[in-house]
Amino acid sequence: MLDIENLGKSYGSLEVLKDINLRVHAGDVVAIIGPSGSGKSTLLKCINFLENYDQGAVRFDGQLVGYAERDGKRAPASERSVNQLRSQMGMVFQNFNLFPHMTILENVIEGPTQVLRVPRDEAVRHAETLLARVGLAEKRDVKPTRLSGGQQQRAAIARALAMKPRLMLFDEPTSALDPELVGEVLSAMRQLAQEGMTMVIVTHEMGFARDVANRVVFMEGGYIVEEGPPDQVFSSPSNARTREFLSRVL
Ligand code: ADP
Ligand code: MG
Repeated sequence: MLDIENLGKSYGSLEVLKDINLRVHAGDVVAIIGPSGSGKSTLLKCINFLENYDQGAVRFDGQLVGYAERDGKRAPASERSVNQLRSQMGMVFQNFNLFPHMTILENVIEGPTQVLRVPRDEAVRHAETLLARVGLAEKRDVKPTRLSGGQQQRAAIARALAMKPRLMLFDEPTSALDPELVGEVLSAMRQLAQEGMTMVIVTHEMGFARDVANRVVFMEGGYIVEEGPPDQVFSSPSNARTREFLSRVL
């Protein structure tokens, strides 16, 4: 589904992604771990083209993300084609990013009605199903500020799912939460994984990564330093940098 080849990205003279190679197949749950500043968020943003990239390629179902190729040269892709690709990827951020002036239901139907032109009653029905799935059926008519962080994040997950994405990207979805609220968000994500959703998750929740992911990627200094099944990466990491990182966080 996702094929990242020799991806490179700089901010000015700062090289933040270096020769990243990663493949994600349908149904994969890939956990990305690594220290702060290692390029994890930038990698997610390159996948859905919230950031452009300088080298290599990100392909989604074989289609180059963000650029159009003609005669071996690259030009920026049309806004329409970027939006079309992006609509197939849901993204959940650390800080929920719900629209504060809208109710939870309005947040969830905004994308489907405005972007996909789904009729409102159909969007509402789908939204109600999604809100029930994340345990928020009763909260449909309240504004985000009336919800706990854990509830807001579950609403953000429902909002992303409302676009019927084929791939879900999560950037530290539980990092801004009080400890007692982390579990409810992780369990919503676990359920999604069990339903077969393809997911790429940047997380510091090592237990969750170990249980739910089928692959773990360790990043440091803009590189993928190690990648493998969770048992292997957590129990017998082959790289000294991975061992050192895990000894600090486990
Ligand atoms: P992580 O998510 O692993 O903490 P990031 O992808 O956010 O890492 O950042 C990687 C590096 O890129 C860091 O050194 C960070 O300071 C830098 N960086 C991130 N975003 C920007 C930006 N918009 N402009 C300049 N530098 C950035
Ligand atoms: Mg980050």
